Amino acid sequence: MSHSGRVQNPRICVCVRKRPLSKKERGRKEVDVVTIPGNGTLLFHEPKQKVDLTKYLENQVFHFDHSFDEEVTNETVYRYTAKPLVHSIFEGGMATCFAYGQTGSGKTHTMGGDFSGKNQNSSKGIYALAAQDVFSLLRQYPDIDPFVSFFEIYNGKVFDLLNKKAQLRVLEDEWQQVQVVGLQEMSVTCVGDVIKMIERGSACRTSGQTFANANSSRSHAVLQIILRRNLQLHGKFSLVDLAGNERGMDVRSNDRQTLAETAEINRSLLALKECIRSLGHNSDHIPFRMSKLTQVLRDSFIGENSRTCMIAMISPGMGSCDYTLNTLRYANRVKEL
Ligand code: ADP
Ligand code: MG
Repeated sequence: MSHSGRVQNPRICVCVRKRPLSKKERGRKEVDVVTIPGNGTLLFHEPKQKVDLTKYLENQVFHFDHSFDEEVTNETVYRYTAKPLVHSIFEGGMATCFAYGQTGSGKTHTMGGDFSGKNQNSSKGIYALAAQDVFSLLRQYPDIDPFVSFFEIYNGKVFDLLNKKAQLRVLEDEWQQVQVVGLQEMSVTCVGDVIKMIERGSACRTSGQTFANANSSRSHAVLQIILRRNLQLHGKFSLVDLAGNERGMDVRSNDRQTLAETAEINRSLLALKECIRSLGHNSDHIPFRMSKLTQVLRDSFIGENSRTCMIAMISPGMGSCDYTLNTLRYANRVKEL
Protein backbone atom coordinates (compact mmCIF):
# COMPACT_ATOMS: atom_id res chain seq x y z
CA MET A 1 0.00 0.00 0.00
CA SER A 2 1.30 3.39 -0.77
CA HIS A 3 0.62 6.91 -1.74
CA SER A 4 1.04 8.36 -5.22
CA GLY A 5 3.02 11.50 -5.82
CA ARG A 6 0.66 12.92 -8.48
CA VAL A 7 -1.26 16.14 -8.24
CA GLN A 8 -4.58 15.17 -6.72
CA ASN A 9 -8.06 16.46 -7.13
CA PRO A 10 -9.04 17.01 -3.50
CA ARG A 11 -12.69 16.24 -4.26
CA ILE A 12 -12.18 12.82 -5.82
CA CYS A 13 -10.11 9.99 -4.50
CA VAL A 14 -9.83 6.79 -6.53
CA CYS A 15 -8.20 3.73 -5.02
CA VAL A 16 -7.86 0.07 -5.85
CA ARG A 17 -8.01 -2.81 -3.42
CA LYS A 18 -6.79 -6.28 -4.32
CA ARG A 19 -8.15 -9.17 -2.27
CA PRO A 20 -6.13 -12.32 -1.51
CA LEU A 21 -6.53 -15.36 -3.75
CA SER A 22 -9.40 -17.41 -2.33
CA LYS A 23 -9.04 -21.02 -1.20
CA LYS A 24 -10.81 -22.11 -4.37
CA GLU A 25 -8.51 -20.07 -6.58
CA ARG A 26 -5.47 -21.43 -4.78
CA GLY A 27 -6.91 -24.92 -5.19
CA ARG A 28 -7.11 -24.33 -8.95
CA LYS A 29 -3.51 -23.09 -8.81
CA GLU A 30 -4.57 -19.77 -10.25
CA VAL A 31 -1.78 -17.33 -10.99
CA ASP A 32 -1.90 -13.93 -9.27
CA VAL A 33 -1.85 -11.37 -12.07
CA VAL A 34 -1.68 -8.18 -9.99
CA THR A 35 1.37 -6.68 -8.25
CA ILE A 36 1.37 -3.54 -6.14
CA PRO A 37 4.95 -2.30 -5.93
CA GLY A 38 4.13 0.90 -4.02
CA ASN A 39 3.63 4.60 -4.62
CA GLY A 40 -0.01 4.16 -5.75
CA THR A 41 1.18 2.09 -8.70
CA LEU A 42 -0.43 -1.14 -9.76
CA LEU A 43 0.94 -3.64 -12.29
CA PHE A 44 -1.42 -5.85 -14.20
CA HIS A 45 0.15 -8.82 -15.95
CA GLU A 46 -2.08 -9.71 -18.85
CA PRO A 47 -1.56 -13.16 -20.32
CA LYS A 48 -1.14 -13.00 -24.10
CA GLN A 49 -0.33 -15.40 -26.88
CA LYS A 50 2.20 -14.76 -29.61
CA VAL A 51 1.59 -15.68 -33.24
CA ASP A 52 3.62 -18.84 -32.72
CA LEU A 53 1.23 -19.64 -29.82
CA THR A 54 3.86 -19.26 -27.11
CA LYS A 55 2.42 -17.57 -24.05
CA TYR A 56 3.77 -14.40 -22.46
CA LEU A 57 2.72 -11.71 -20.02
CA GLU A 58 2.17 -8.13 -21.04
CA ASN A 59 2.54 -5.67 -18.18
CA GLN A 60 0.22 -2.73 -17.89
CA VAL A 61 0.87 0.05 -15.39
CA PHE A 62 -1.86 1.97 -13.57
CA HIS A 63 -1.59 4.83 -11.07
CA PHE A 64 -4.20 5.54 -8.42
CA ASP A 65 -4.40 7.74 -5.34
CA HIS A 66 -3.74 4.59 -3.34
CA SER A 67 -3.34 0.95 -4.27
CA PHE A 68 -3.94 -1.55 -1.50
CA ASP A 69 -2.55 -5.06 -1.67
CA GLU A 70 -3.97 -8.23 -0.13
CA GLU A 71 -2.21 -7.63 3.20
CA VAL A 72 -4.05 -4.41 3.93
CA THR A 73 -6.86 -4.41 6.51
CA ASN A 74 -10.29 -2.77 6.32
CA GLU A 75 -9.09 -0.26 8.93
CA THR A 76 -6.21 0.89 6.74
CA VAL A 77 -8.36 1.07 3.62
CA TYR A 78 -10.83 3.16 5.62
CA ARG A 79 -8.11 5.47 6.96
CA TYR A 80 -7.03 6.47 3.42
CA THR A 81 -10.46 6.58 1.74
CA ALA A 82 -13.63 7.37 3.70
CA LYS A 83 -12.13 8.67 6.94
CA PRO A 84 -10.80 11.94 5.46
CA LEU A 85 -14.37 12.68 4.29
CA VAL A 86 -16.09 12.34 7.66
CA HIS A 87 -15.36 15.86 8.92
CA SER A 88 -16.80 17.38 5.72
CA ILE A 89 -20.36 16.30 6.58
CA PHE A 90 -20.10 18.26 9.84
CA GLU A 91 -19.23 21.29 7.73
CA GLY A 92 -22.45 20.86 5.78
CA GLY A 93 -20.99 18.71 3.02
CA MET A 94 -22.17 15.67 1.12
CA ALA A 95 -19.69 12.81 1.11
CA THR A 96 -19.91 9.55 -0.82
CA CYS A 97 -17.87 6.41 -0.84
CA PHE A 98 -18.40 3.79 -3.56
CA ALA A 99 -17.28 0.18 -3.60
CA TYR A 100 -16.99 -0.85 -7.26
CA GLY A 101 -16.01 -4.15 -8.82
CA GLN A 102 -16.91 -7.60 -10.00
CA THR A 103 -19.03 -9.91 -7.82
CA GLY A 104 -16.74 -11.71 -5.38
CA SER A 105 -14.03 -9.03 -5.49
CA GLY A 106 -14.60 -7.82 -1.90
CA LYS A 107 -17.10 -4.95 -2.04
CA THR A 108 -19.31 -6.17 0.80
CA HIS A 109 -16.29 -7.34 2.81
CA THR A 110 -14.87 -3.82 2.59
CA MET A 111 -18.10 -1.90 3.23
CA GLY A 112 -20.04 -4.16 5.57
CA GLY A 113 -17.20 -6.08 7.16
CA ASP A 114 -18.02 -9.27 8.94
CA PHE A 115 -20.38 -9.30 11.89
CA SER A 116 -21.03 -13.02 11.95
CA GLY A 117 -18.89 -13.53 15.04
CA LYS A 118 -18.12 -17.02 13.74
CA ASN A 119 -15.07 -15.69 12.03
CA GLN A 120 -12.07 -15.27 14.33
CA ASN A 121 -10.78 -12.48 12.15
CA SER A 122 -14.15 -10.76 12.05
CA SER A 123 -13.49 -7.17 11.19
CA LYS A 124 -15.44 -3.98 10.95
CA GLY A 125 -16.12 -2.56 7.53
CA ILE A 126 -16.28 1.03 6.34
CA TYR A 127 -19.93 1.37 7.43
CA ALA A 128 -19.09 0.74 11.09
CA LEU A 129 -15.76 2.55 11.05
CA ALA A 130 -17.37 5.67 9.58
CA ALA A 131 -20.19 5.48 12.14
CA GLN A 132 -17.58 5.30 14.92
CA ASP A 133 -15.87 8.48 13.73
CA VAL A 134 -19.19 10.27 13.21
CA PHE A 135 -20.15 9.55 16.82
CA SER A 136 -16.84 10.70 18.23
CA LEU A 137 -17.10 13.98 16.27
CA LEU A 138 -20.73 14.41 17.32
CA ARG A 139 -19.55 15.13 20.88
CA GLN A 140 -18.32 18.50 19.60
CA TYR A 141 -21.70 19.27 17.98
CA PRO A 142 -24.42 18.90 20.61
CA ASP A 143 -26.98 20.58 18.33
CA ILE A 144 -26.63 18.00 15.55
CA ASP A 145 -28.70 14.80 15.47
CA PRO A 146 -27.69 11.67 13.53
CA PHE A 147 -30.02 9.42 11.49
CA VAL A 148 -29.54 6.37 9.31
CA SER A 149 -31.29 5.19 6.17
CA PHE A 150 -30.50 2.08 4.15
CA PHE A 151 -31.96 1.26 0.75
CA GLU A 152 -31.37 -0.83 -2.30
CA ILE A 153 -31.69 0.06 -5.98
CA TYR A 154 -32.57 -2.93 -8.08
CA ASN A 155 -33.48 -2.69 -11.75
CA GLY A 156 -34.13 1.05 -11.43
CA LYS A 157 -36.46 0.64 -8.45
CA VAL A 158 -35.78 1.76 -4.89
CA PHE A 159 -36.50 -0.54 -1.91
CA ASP A 160 -36.28 0.39 1.77
CA LEU A 161 -34.04 -2.10 3.59
CA LEU A 162 -35.14 -0.75 6.98
CA ASN A 163 -38.81 -1.18 6.15
CA LYS A 164 -39.41 -4.68 4.81
CA LYS A 165 -38.20 -3.81 1.35
CA ALA A 166 -41.07 -1.44 0.70
CA GLN A 167 -40.81 -0.02 -2.80
CA LEU A 168 -40.34 3.74 -2.76
CA ARG A 169 -41.01 6.46 -5.30
CA VAL A 170 -38.39 9.00 -6.28
CA LEU A 171 -39.67 12.50 -6.95
CA GLU A 172 -37.92 15.53 -8.31
CA ASP A 173 -39.48 18.92 -7.65
CA GLU A 174 -39.30 22.03 -9.81
CA TRP A 175 -36.07 23.08 -8.05
CA GLN A 176 -34.53 19.73 -8.96
CA GLN A 177 -34.57 18.61 -5.35
CA VAL A 178 -34.78 14.83 -5.34
CA GLN A 179 -36.78 13.01 -2.68
CA VAL A 180 -37.15 9.33 -1.95
CA VAL A 181 -40.73 9.41 -0.69
CA GLY A 182 -41.32 7.58 2.58
CA LEU A 183 -37.74 6.43 3.10
CA GLN A 184 -37.30 5.49 6.77
CA GLU A 185 -34.76 7.61 8.57
CA MET A 186 -33.92 6.00 11.91
CA SER A 187 -32.69 8.10 14.79
CA VAL A 188 -29.48 6.60 16.21
CA THR A 189 -27.79 7.33 19.51
CA CYS A 190 -24.62 5.24 19.37
CA VAL A 191 -22.48 3.11 17.04
CA GLY A 192 -24.31 0.01 18.30
CA ASP A 193 -27.56 1.43 16.94
CA VAL A 194 -26.01 1.91 13.51
CA ILE A 195 -24.60 -1.61 13.52
CA LYS A 196 -28.06 -2.96 14.35
CA MET A 197 -29.48 -1.09 11.35
CA ILE A 198 -26.72 -2.43 9.11
CA GLU A 199 -27.41 -5.99 10.25
CA ARG A 200 -31.14 -5.56 9.82
CA GLY A 201 -30.80 -4.02 6.37
CA SER A 202 -28.21 -6.51 5.19
CA ALA A 203 -30.42 -9.43 6.27
CA CYS A 204 -33.33 -7.83 4.44
CA ARG A 205 -31.14 -7.39 1.38
CA THR A 206 -30.45 -11.07 0.96
CA SER A 207 -33.49 -12.77 2.49
CA GLY A 208 -36.67 -13.88 0.78
CA GLN A 209 -35.02 -14.75 -2.51
CA THR A 210 -34.15 -18.18 -3.79
CA PHE A 211 -31.11 -16.75 -5.51
CA ALA A 212 -30.34 -14.52 -2.57
CA ASN A 213 -26.70 -13.76 -3.20
CA ALA A 214 -27.06 -13.54 -6.93
CA ASN A 215 -29.74 -10.94 -6.34
CA SER A 216 -27.62 -8.84 -4.03
CA SER A 217 -24.92 -8.76 -6.69
CA ARG A 218 -27.40 -7.13 -9.07
CA SER A 219 -28.44 -4.31 -6.78
CA HIS A 220 -26.78 -1.21 -5.38
CA ALA A 221 -27.04 -0.87 -1.58
CA VAL A 222 -26.88 2.65 -0.14
CA LEU A 223 -26.32 3.30 3.56
CA GLN A 224 -26.68 6.94 4.53
CA ILE A 225 -25.58 8.64 7.72
CA ILE A 226 -27.57 11.85 7.87
CA LEU A 227 -26.88 14.83 10.11
CA ARG A 228 -29.73 17.20 10.99
CA ARG A 229 -29.73 20.48 12.90
CA ASN A 230 -33.21 21.46 14.11
CA LEU A 231 -34.47 18.77 11.73
CA GLN A 232 -32.94 20.63 8.76
CA LEU A 233 -30.54 18.60 6.63
CA HIS A 234 -26.97 19.53 7.54
CA GLY A 235 -24.72 16.89 5.97
CA LYS A 236 -24.88 13.39 4.58
CA PHE A 237 -22.48 10.50 4.12
CA SER A 238 -23.60 7.95 1.51
CA LEU A 239 -21.79 4.62 1.53
CA VAL A 240 -22.56 2.60 -1.57
CA ASP A 241 -21.99 -1.10 -2.20
CA LEU A 242 -22.49 -1.15 -5.99
CA ALA A 243 -23.92 -3.93 -8.14
CA GLY A 244 -21.33 -6.27 -9.67
CA ASN A 245 -19.89 -4.72 -12.83
CA GLU A 246 -19.32 -8.05 -14.59
CA ARG A 247 -22.80 -8.06 -16.05
CA GLY A 248 -21.86 -5.50 -18.62
CA MET A 249 -19.50 -7.98 -20.16
CA ASP A 250 -21.84 -10.92 -19.96
CA VAL A 251 -23.64 -10.96 -23.28
CA ARG A 252 -24.40 -14.66 -23.38
CA SER A 253 -27.80 -14.49 -21.78
CA ASN A 254 -30.97 -14.64 -23.83
CA ASP A 255 -33.22 -14.14 -20.84
CA ARG A 256 -35.14 -10.88 -21.11
CA GLN A 257 -35.13 -10.20 -17.36
CA THR A 258 -31.37 -10.64 -17.21
CA LEU A 259 -30.84 -8.44 -20.25
CA ALA A 260 -32.98 -5.69 -18.73
CA GLU A 261 -31.05 -5.92 -15.46
CA THR A 262 -27.77 -5.83 -17.33
CA ALA A 263 -28.80 -2.76 -19.30
CA GLU A 264 -29.86 -1.01 -16.10
CA ILE A 265 -26.62 -1.81 -14.27
CA ASN A 266 -24.58 -0.62 -17.26
CA ARG A 267 -26.55 2.57 -17.47
CA SER A 268 -26.14 3.34 -13.78
CA LEU A 269 -22.40 2.61 -13.69
CA LEU A 270 -21.88 4.73 -16.79
CA ALA A 271 -23.95 7.54 -15.26
CA LEU A 272 -21.95 7.30 -12.05
CA LYS A 273 -18.67 7.66 -13.91
CA GLU A 274 -19.96 10.72 -15.76
CA CYS A 275 -21.35 12.33 -12.59
CA ILE A 276 -18.12 11.89 -10.64
CA ARG A 277 -16.19 13.26 -13.59
CA SER A 278 -18.37 16.38 -13.69
CA LEU A 279 -17.71 16.87 -9.98
CA GLY A 280 -13.99 16.79 -10.80
CA HIS A 281 -14.44 19.34 -13.59
CA ASN A 282 -16.70 21.61 -11.52
CA SER A 283 -19.06 21.24 -14.45
CA ASP A 284 -22.52 22.82 -14.36
CA HIS A 285 -24.05 19.99 -16.28
CA ILE A 286 -24.30 16.88 -14.14
CA PRO A 287 -26.05 14.01 -15.95
CA PHE A 288 -27.63 12.71 -12.75
CA ARG A 289 -30.93 11.90 -14.48
CA MET A 290 -29.23 9.17 -16.51
CA SER A 291 -30.00 6.59 -13.82
CA LYS A 292 -31.91 6.10 -10.58
CA LEU A 293 -28.66 5.62 -8.68
CA THR A 294 -27.25 9.00 -9.72
CA GLN A 295 -30.64 10.65 -9.35
CA VAL A 296 -31.03 9.68 -5.71
CA LEU A 297 -27.41 10.67 -5.07
CA ARG A 298 -27.81 14.02 -6.86
CA ASP A 299 -26.81 15.99 -3.73
CA SER A 300 -23.47 14.19 -3.75
CA PHE A 301 -22.48 15.61 -7.11
CA ILE A 302 -23.28 19.26 -6.53
CA GLY A 303 -22.17 21.95 -4.13
CA GLU A 304 -18.83 23.30 -3.04
CA ASN A 305 -18.45 20.80 -0.29
CA SER A 306 -19.13 17.49 -2.05
CA ARG A 307 -16.41 14.90 -1.92
CA THR A 308 -16.23 11.39 -3.28
CA CYS A 309 -14.04 8.37 -2.96
CA MET A 310 -14.21 5.23 -5.01
CA ILE A 311 -12.62 1.96 -4.03
CA ALA A 312 -12.30 -0.35 -7.02
CA MET A 313 -12.07 -3.94 -5.85
CA ILE A 314 -10.22 -6.54 -7.86
CA SER A 315 -9.84 -10.29 -7.74
CA PRO A 316 -6.19 -11.21 -8.33
CA GLY A 317 -6.67 -14.51 -10.19
CA MET A 318 -5.90 -15.18 -13.83
CA GLY A 319 -9.50 -16.39 -14.23
CA SER A 320 -10.82 -12.87 -13.49
CA CYS A 321 -8.40 -11.15 -15.86
CA ASP A 322 -10.94 -9.56 -18.22
CA TYR A 323 -13.12 -8.30 -15.37
CA THR A 324 -10.13 -6.93 -13.50
CA LEU A 325 -8.88 -5.02 -16.52
CA ASN A 326 -12.38 -3.65 -17.04
CA THR A 327 -12.47 -2.44 -13.41
CA LEU A 328 -9.01 -0.86 -13.62
CA ARG A 329 -9.94 1.02 -16.80
CA TYR A 330 -13.16 2.31 -15.27
CA ALA A 331 -11.37 3.53 -12.13
CA ASN A 332 -8.71 5.18 -14.26
CA ARG A 333 -11.32 7.00 -16.31
CA VAL A 334 -13.17 8.28 -13.22
CA LYS A 335 -9.98 9.96 -12.07
CA GLU A 336 -8.84 11.26 -15.45
CA LEU A 337 -9.32 15.00 -15.85
P1 ADP B 1 -18.59 -8.82 -3.37
O1 ADP B 1 -19.42 -8.11 -2.35
O2 ADP B 1 -17.74 -7.89 -4.18
O3 ADP B 1 -19.38 -9.73 -4.23
P2 ADP B 1 -17.48 -10.17 -1.08
O4 ADP B 1 -17.18 -8.99 -0.23
O5 ADP B 1 -18.71 -10.92 -0.74
O6 ADP B 1 -17.53 -9.75 -2.62
O7 ADP B 1 -16.20 -11.08 -1.07
C1 ADP B 1 -16.17 -12.38 -1.63
C2 ADP B 1 -15.39 -13.32 -0.70
O8 ADP B 1 -14.04 -12.91 -0.57
C3 ADP B 1 -15.97 -13.32 0.71
O9 ADP B 1 -15.89 -14.63 1.21
C4 ADP B 1 -15.03 -12.40 1.47
O10 ADP B 1 -14.99 -12.71 2.84
C5 ADP B 1 -13.70 -12.63 0.78
N1 ADP B 1 -12.87 -11.41 0.80
C6 ADP B 1 -13.09 -10.30 0.08
N2 ADP B 1 -12.15 -9.37 0.31
C7 ADP B 1 -11.28 -9.91 1.20
C8 ADP B 1 -10.07 -9.45 1.84
N3 ADP B 1 -9.55 -8.24 1.58
N4 ADP B 1 -9.47 -10.29 2.70
C9 ADP B 1 -9.97 -11.52 2.94
N5 ADP B 1 -11.09 -12.00 2.38
C10 ADP B 1 -11.75 -11.23 1.52
MG1 MG C 1 -21.50 -8.15 -2.18
